[in-house]
Amino acid sequence: MKILLTGGLGYIGSHTAVEVINAGHETIIIDNLSNSKIEVLEKIEKITKKRPKFYQEDVCDINALTKVFKENPDIFAVIHFAGFKAVGESCKEPLKYYKNNLISTLNLLEVMEKFNCKNFIFSSSATVYAVSEIMPLEEDFPLGASNPYGRTKLFNEEILEDYQNAHPDFNIVLLRYFNPIGAHESGLLGEDPNGIPNNLMPYICKVATGELDHLNIFGKDYNTKDGTGVRDYIHIVDLAKGHIKALEKMLEENVGLKIYNLGTGTGYSVLDIVNTFNKVNGNLVKYEFVARRPGDIAMCYASPSKAEKELGFKTTKTLEDMCRSSYLYQKNNKK
Ligand code: NAD
Ligand code: UDP
Repeated sequence: MKILLTGGLGYIGSHTAVEVINAGHETIIIDNLSNSKIEVLEKIEKITKKRPKFYQEDVCDINALTKVFKENPDIFAVIHFAGFKAVGESCKEPLKYYKNNLISTLNLLEVMEKFNCKNFIFSSSATVYAVSEIMPLEEDFPLGASNPYGRTKLFNEEILEDYQNAHPDFNIVLLRYFNPIGAHESGLLGEDPNGIPNNLMPYICKVATGELDHLNIFGKDYNTKDGTGVRDYIHIVDLAKGHIKALEKMLEENVGLKIYNLGTGTGYSVLDIVNTFNKVNGNLVKYEFVARRPGDIAMCYASPSKAEKELGFKTTKTLEDMCRSSYLYQKNNKK
């Protein structure tokens, strides 16, 4: 089958492209390189021995999108990764986020309708859940985003639900990712944020290579087992395979609209991550405790049961795998 990946040269898209190719599908990628590099295409080819068809285009450009569908009229499904994802930046430049993250989806739906392409997988996020005292988070828990980035995900979910209601034969899978970390075992693909990272694992990796001095741990007085924040970290390759499970389901049946968490169901604290990283990679990461980061919550982890039951999705990688592969990629790509 032909599968179109928007944002397919980014962190999650590139790992998913490898799995889509390995599953025997023909892969087409659209990416405007706003947060990725063209070298990723060569790396996907090096790993899979197959080169995806690539369009350097903006998904917000409906003419470009129409051209892609015209040249590839039999696309079975679209996996829509393209978007901006930095929470802090979204608070400073909300319009940039609303434009990119919403217009891209609207354009895709319009062009897919025109070309009779009826399967859509959307990169949603755990951030769409309202703050909850109850963990693990289940798909039917109350929703409520707390920043513009989160709201773009929530609005996208709502737009897609409205669209699906109006077009019952259109299939949509909303995948709510928890915290993807780790890298491809080849060391060729990984997460490569510009500037000083905001997220925990990229920051730790830069401390380990000496690019940053030490990790600041935001808060040690949360109501968690060791006082530091708890999250559900999922290996990027496991996450990528979740998309294949969603595709398989779409190949088997008309799914209508389905929502799945992609997480492991296990919460790890910041100290768990640092200690495991230091255990598997050598004692490389020094840390200090500092004040809580505004907007952070104590705990967030998924119930993975629905994805397991309905998609047969089960993660296989350990926290050690995540820490080892993240550092391997960072060493290979140190600037
Ligand atoms: P990423 O920035 O690495 O990848 C996004 C890719 O999309 C980049 O290659 C970028 O160049 C491209 N892109 C952005 N806007 C585009 C446009 N208008 N047209 C064409 N290409 C465009 O991000 P990622 O971590 O791979 O995330 C992928 C998706 O998953 C995003 O929608 C993100 O919001 C979502 N998500 C990510 C996380 C996470 O922690 N990484 C968690 C939950 C959800
Ligand atoms: N964190 C930290 N120092 C950092 C970056 C993150 O202590 O430099 C903590 C953060 O407070 C949270 C966890 O690590 O408890 C995961 O943060 P990240 O930004 O990676 O993910 P998110 O909070 O968006 O789930």
